[in-house]
Amino acid sequence: MVGDKVTLPLTVTPAKSEGEKASPDKPREPREPIFHLEDVTVFYGDKAAVREVTFDIAAKEITALIGPSGCGKSTLIRCLNRMNDLIPSARVDGKVLYHDQDLYAPEVDAVEVRKRIGMVFQKPNPFPKSIYDNIAFGPRVLGMKGDMDEIVERALVHAAVWDEVKDRLKTNAFGMSGGQQQRLCIARALAVEPDVILMDEPCSALDPISTGKIEDLMMQLREEFSIVIVTHNMQQAARVSDRTAFFTVDAEDRVGRLVEYDDTETVFTNPSDSRTEAYVTGKVG
Ligand code: ADP
Repeated sequence: MVGDKVTLPLTVTPAKSEGEKASPDKPREPREPIFHLEDVTVFYGDKAAVREVTFDIAAKEITALIGPSGCGKSTLIRCLNRMNDLIPSARVDGKVLYHDQDLYAPEVDAVEVRKRIGMVFQKPNPFPKSIYDNIAFGPRVLGMKGDMDEIVERALVHAAVWDEVKDRLKTNAFGMSGGQQQRLCIARALAVEPDVILMDEPCSALDPISTGKIEDLMMQLREEFSIVIVTHNMQQAARVSDRTAFFTVDAEDRVGRLVEYDDTETVFTNPSDSRTEAYVTGKVG
């Protein structure tokens, strides 16, 4: 964090105006890529977990990463905000460009990267602090300007949890339900004004009603943010995402590979690869 830090750009594309998904009679306009991955291979020690992944992730869309367990979805999503840096044995080869900038260039500050590209995990992980302090933590650390009460309220409103917690902001976040905790974690990511939100199976610990709330929230947030979600729930990918990347894991070498990447509707209704079809129709998995 010393020396010349690269300042990563904030948003570059106008917000999606109507928030509609593509349909056969109304094709989606091509979106500007926010990430460009080229030949990305991630190793843990000597062993590749996912190999030679090349694709673009569009801005202001929801991109779903799907595929059987162990195909490298979590590994890959962690490349997008350098979370793999925190795993000592992990090494990322290839190029990950974010707004055309090499995310792994030595001068790029990983802390700044994780502010712009926030992450929400499988299990809600609030800090053992009050609801208020959970949200205020990031803005305080970053020295963000503005009225903290307003910053906290805005983030909680944005994450559709304000009405449920506004009268108990000073109580411990552990007193919230699992679904509320997950929306709190989304609010915490939003409070530092990110550009992208990565979600690694954000609903897998939640009941169907809480899952529905998170999905509704994702649909609202994609008007302003680019979202990448790992999900093992194919219905969820079909419901919420604009584009889907299907990965599989080779039975011989146990390395994950990207098989197909397309509009979600195409991946689920007219995939071009027989392995995708077998997976989305539930024949294998
Ligand atoms: P998925 O999210 O698709 O289930 P993962 O990215 O979690 O897949 O895992 C892909 C492969 O990488 C698996 O073989 C897994 O065992 C391995 N792996 C994941 N995390 C680590 C780690 N921290 N250290 C070593 N191997 C790992």
